[in-house]
Amino acid sequence: MPSSVLYRFCQNVAQIVQTQGAACFALGAADNRLHPQAIVDLGGSNSVKLVGHIEIDERTPFSAAVVEALGSRKPIVIEDPVRISEMQVQPPVMVVPIIWEREALDPSEESVKRPVGVMTLWSRRGEGQFDEDDYKLVETLSANAAALLVEEQLEEAGDIQAAFARVPVGLMLVAPDDRIAVANAAAMSVVQVDPLQGRKIVDVDYRGQLGKLLSELRASEEGQSNCSFVSLDGDTYAASAQLAQEGQAIIAFTQSPFTTAAEELVGQVAHELRTPLTVIQGNLQTVEVMLDMDLTEEDFEIIKEFTGTAIIQSSRMFRLINETLNISRIHAGKEIELEVERFDVIDALNQIMLELQDRLNRHNVVREAPDSLMMEGDRGKVISILDNYLKNAAKYADPDTTITVRVKDLGDEVVLEVQDEGIGIPEEAIEKIGREAGFRTDVSKSQAGGIGLGMVYTRRVTEAHGGRMEIESELGKGSIFRSILPKEQPHQPRSVSLT
Ligand code: ADP
Repeated sequence: MPSSVLYRFCQNVAQIVQTQGAACFALGAADNRLHPQAIVDLGGSNSVKLVGHIEIDERTPFSAAVVEALGSRKPIVIEDPVRISEMQVQPPVMVVPIIWEREALDPSEESVKRPVGVMTLWSRRGEGQFDEDDYKLVETLSANAAALLVEEQLEEAGDIQAAFARVPVGLMLVAPDDRIAVANAAAMSVVQVDPLQGRKIVDVDYRGQLGKLLSELRASEEGQSNCSFVSLDGDTYAASAQLAQEGQAIIAFTQSPFTTAAEELVGQVAHELRTPLTVIQGNLQTVEVMLDMDLTEEDFEIIKEFTGTAIIQSSRMFRLINETLNISRIHAGKEIELEVERFDVIDALNQIMLELQDRLNRHNVVREAPDSLMMEGDRGKVISILDNYLKNAAKYADPDTTITVRVKDLGDEVVLEVQDEGIGIPEEAIEKIGREAGFRTDVSKSQAGGIGLGMVYTRRVTEAHGGRMEIESELGKGSIFRSILPKEQPHQPRSVSLT
């Protein structure tokens, strides 16, 4: 899927190296073809639509250059006009291998160095030729491209993993005489008995848990019963038993909601931190190389923009880390603490809008807010409130719909509000959101990955400020999430018990 981060990256590359166009292709690990990720043509005549997947052993000058660049791991320059798929580009055309390099994380592991794609630059403006400085720059930039490409692949893999995390891990069918008729491999690994088929439950049951589950099932009116199953190794699973035809019972094991939430939290945090970190590292490396060159006025502007973005992204990392620490405090039943200061909420709003630029750029964002509004509170946590509302709006509403963010001055109180035209929430579910850790509506589960902790954090942070959270929503139409916060905080730091 073409990504907006890579598109912006290509724009920057074309600007820094002064070419008319830049493109980034991922090398498919499975099919050994090039897949276009982003194409920028400042001349405006080419677009990503013109370029399909490219066979790299095709007999075209471009494919030949790609093979040579990947083989020699060096940039190759073509001095003639070239066709890249259906796209015609003007010389000089530079084909740069994108090599992913990573040091071994521990002595038992090997370091990684493998080609993951190709960057192409064409029509050098100014002198019309690439020079030494350009080569140095493209080398640095291709390392950044590698990080971004790998990041993108990991993101896709993460989505697939998240989908699998919810699949039942084990299934068994138990006959009325408590003999196991059928069991899958996953059930055997949960129960840690192989084979299970033909055995009686009492003979394989660790601490009598399954026997108890089955007797509860047979006593239940709904023909259903659930329990938490702890395996021999101490892993917890959710076990659910269901009555089937002719007195048979089906037992399904899934990872327990808590294990899943905890695992997913770690995954989500690592994931969330990777994007800002990639941007920070890439920008700083580029600036470092640029500082060795003769700089023009335009270069200074680029450096300023790059360092500015790095600063914004590093403050985002700090906030995400704090948010995670606070979520684990909430899990542990501890209090949330505020670092109160006086600050301009509009300034905070500007900051989060910049940080989330990439996530919100497919929606139509409308902003209704005064020019300035001072309040007392924990600035970072107030930004987190807006962050969570906006991220969810982008996640649970289709691209091209409108997201409205409002900041209102009510005299003694400040309202922070985000409205979307998304999937909405069923009426009976509204009061659970932010109150039950891990709660997610069925529609949202089918729509996007998530762990159901962001709103719990948002509600707690709102309440820790002495404020209240409100949700208005209509299924299929959209939602409004709102935090109403007092403008002043008591002189003693306020803290709210989370138990
Ligand atoms: P997550 O998004 O990780 O599941 P949150 O705590 O942020 O967790 O949200 C909890 C649940 O609230 C979501 O799973 C979803 O069901 C619902 N929700 C939150 N924001 C929205 C929204 N803007 N539109 C529809 N549903 C939402």
